[in-house]
Amino acid sequence: MNIIICLKQVPGTTEVRIDPETNTLVREGIKNIVNPFDTYALEEGVRLKERYGGKVTAVTMGPPQAEEMLREAISTGADEAILISDSAFAGSDTLATSYTLATAINKIQDYDLVICGRQTLDGDTGQVGPELAEMLGIPFAAYVSKVEEINSGQMRVERMVEDGHEIVEMPLPAVITVVKEINVPRLPSLRGLTKAKSAAIPAWTAGELGIDRNKAGLSGSATRVIKIFFPQRVHHGEILEGDPESQVASLIDKLRDSKII
Ligand SMILES: Cc1cc2nc3c(=O)[nH]c(=O)nc-3n(C[C@H](O)[C@H](O)[C@H](O)COP(=O)(O)OP(=O)(O)OC[C@H]3O[C@@H](n4cnc5c(N)ncnc54)[C@H](O)[C@@H]3O)c2cc1C
Repeated sequence: MNIIICLKQVPGTTEVRIDPETNTLVREGIKNIVNPFDTYALEEGVRLKERYGGKVTAVTMGPPQAEEMLREAISTGADEAILISDSAFAGSDTLATSYTLATAINKIQDYDLVICGRQTLDGDTGQVGPELAEMLGIPFAAYVSKVEEINSGQMRVERMVEDGHEIVEMPLPAVITVVKEINVPRLPSLRGLTKAKSAAIPAWTAGELGIDRNKAGLSGSATRVIKIFFPQRVHHGEILEGDPESQVASLIDKLRDSKII
């Protein structure tokens, strides 16, 4: 089983600040971490390798400093890692990110399973997993909470749905996104840390990948961030007086006046 894990480096805080001029995150002074959901994706990949044999390759599209996250991935069980990095990828939205990742995965060629986290802490869209599957033209299951079995090129997984769980069976290769209920990620091992220190991590550029620049980076992005802002907090409340009937009547009047109903 050759398993590819998609990991993203994200700011390690929910207290993000937005540069009002550029509408981008202020990243100075903020420590980056592995997107938490991606640690579960990695752990599941390593567990599947331990169960069925094979290799785990960690992949990220990001700036050069994302290499440090890939070394962390090796210290916790990934066999290899690839950094996809080029100024041509700056400003990518989810479509351009998925296109770039899909192009790299097609270059890796020999894979059975791609595992992503369910969503990131920063972009938070949960779109990259399904978009990747669509672009690779392979089956997809989201919110996977258990890999039940892999046998004869078929995979059976349990996925979380609103009112319970669903069992899905699909042929490999496939893409799954995982939830935190799937496992408990391990800590780095001493052997892993030593391996991570000296591991050679190739950096693939747009040129090496044969990227179509109209589909990557800002120019390949179907969306534009016009403005990012925090909603104003309104501390404003009113207690309605009277019996329940008159309170309800007064509430309805107020909602009508405010054109809410
Ligand atoms: C117009 C626009 C411009 C943007 N410009 C920038 C920018 O300049 N810099 C910037 O950092 N962000 C930028 N973003 C945000 C960027 O698009 C998203 O962070 C990125 O596309 C991934 O989407 P997401 O974070 O919502 O991932 P999700 O879809 O929530 O992620 C799901 C899973 O996909 C995988 N995944 C997601 N992203 C990656 C990745 N890069 N590498 C490997 N695996 C991944 C992970 O397994 C993750 O758990 C921009 C967004 C828009 C709309």
